[in-house]
Amino acid sequence: MTSPPPRSSPGAASAHALAPTPAGLACAAAGLVIDPLRPVARALVTHGHSDHARPGHGAVMATAETLAIMEARLGPNFAGSTQVAAYGEPVRIGEATVTFLPAGHVLGSAQILIEAAGRRYVVSGDYKRQTDPTCLPFEPIPCDVFVTEATFGLPVFRHPEAAAEVGRLLRSVALFPDRTHLVGAYALGKAQRLIAELRRAGYERPIYLHGALVAICALYEEAGVSLGPLVPVGAKREPLAGEIVIAPPSALGDLWSRRFADPVTAFASGWMRVRAHARQRGVELPLVVSDHADWEDLCTTIVETAAAEVWVTHGEEDALVHWCGTRGIAAKPLRLVGYGDEGEAEPPPAGPGAASAEAATDGGVDGSPEAGAAS
Ligand SMILES: [Zn+2]
Ligand SMILES: [Zn+2]
Repeated sequence: MTSPPPRSSPGAASAHALAPTPAGLACAAAGLVIDPLRPVARALVTHGHSDHARPGHGAVMATAETLAIMEARLGPNFAGSTQVAAYGEPVRIGEATVTFLPAGHVLGSAQILIEAAGRRYVVSGDYKRQTDPTCLPFEPIPCDVFVTEATFGLPVFRHPEAAAEVGRLLRSVALFPDRTHLVGAYALGKAQRLIAELRRAGYERPIYLHGALVAICALYEEAGVSLGPLVPVGAKREPLAGEIVIAPPSALGDLWSRRFADPVTAFASGWMRVRAHARQRGVELPLVVSDHADWEDLCTTIVETAAAEVWVTHGEEDALVHWCGTRGIAAKPLRLVGYGDEGEAEPPPAGPGAASAEAATDGGVDGSPEAGAAS
């Protein structure tokens, strides 16, 4: 692929202060690695999803919320030492200055600005631009090099407003009062965002939780995110007709889900834009709710950062790199293997390539919100 010259050429040939290594994206001048894939002496962690927040590092710097999430999920000894990063407060580390800024992805999620060797690097982690009542909004940061994900980096991915998707869920609940609405949602971030959106829409009934969601919901509450009445689903059979039950996606198809009254199976994920994914999972009510930027937001964000260079960590790298080329922005895939194990960075088991191959031809990617419904 040929790329036009980068927007700013001075110094473009000089070595970068940030570089991909087997352990992850590293800044040698500060002796740190961002979201390390293997244990390192000093880690900066963007957010609490397990593909970014791993145990076993010497020192971990992250927001207070991310540190709390790591402790809840990994135990009290997840790192040798910890340091709280406050949003917007620059900290000098070695030859670099490091600043955490909101990423709008999940509670405590951050982009990390590294200023070193005369350049500004922003590592965005996972991020989104849609409003989310459970975390601070993403802020575009002017920089020389913008490091982005590309989970939904294809033009077919357009995420509707979460409120509209929650409205569809509530209409289904009203339409089928004898059925349990069993909603699959990732345990960290998506589940809490769905609950908060249901409350914003005026839904005041108790919301029932699979046991895997209880601790993280409590942590959000402690951090000041109000989720309303939540009830853990008990050990014995409870049909819960007419109620909303939220469970991790893995629980949707297993024995656990058979206790409910004629359940309507829903799943909240950006992948629900692709009909094949909903069909494969046996999802009756696909809800297109994502904690990642869609195609348009990825492109808008790149433009807003005014970065001369874009590095793509994971997802649909090639499409985004190509788009950057058409805009005269130098871009390259980093192909950092290991991100995308949690949240929704990994497509549901419709198989690799399903998004690109099927989304383009399947009616499920455009038209009415119901177009993605499997029947
Ligand atoms: Zn994530
Ligand atoms: Zn991720």
